[in-house]
Amino acid sequence: MDERDAKRFEKRLLGLREELNRLVQAEDGEVEGGRDSMDEVDQATELIEREFGSLIATNARASLEKVNAALKRIEAGEYGKCQECGVEIPEKRLHALPFALYCVNCQQALEEDQ
Ligand SMILES: [Zn+2]
Repeated sequence: MDERDAKRFEKRLLGLREELNRLVQAEDGEVEGGRDSMDEVDQATELIEREFGSLIATNARASLEKVNAALKRIEAGEYGKCQECGVEIPEKRLHALPFALYCVNCQQALEEDQ
C-alpha cells in the first residue's frame, strides 16, 4: 500500500477513534449528564453502526484498542500487512474493517483456535 492510501485509512481510523472514544466514555459515565450528551452518544453509535456494523459499536472498548493498534501500524509503515503471515490484506477488507490486523485466512485460523 502506498503512503497516500495509508493516509486515507489513517484519516478514517482517526474519525472512528473519536466516535469510539465517545461511546467508551459514555459507558464509563464520564459524559456529563443531560439530554444533549446522550444525543451525542446516540449519534456516535448510529454513525459507527451505519459505517461498520453493530458489532463494533457494541464492542466499543475492544474496537478502540484495535483502532489504536492499526494507527500504530500506519506509523510504522506496516499497515495493511497481515500480522501473522505478512501477506497484503486486500483493500476491500480494509475498507470494511479498517483496523483488520490479519488476512481472512489467518483471522479464521485464529478464531478456530479459540
Ligand atoms: Zn495472514
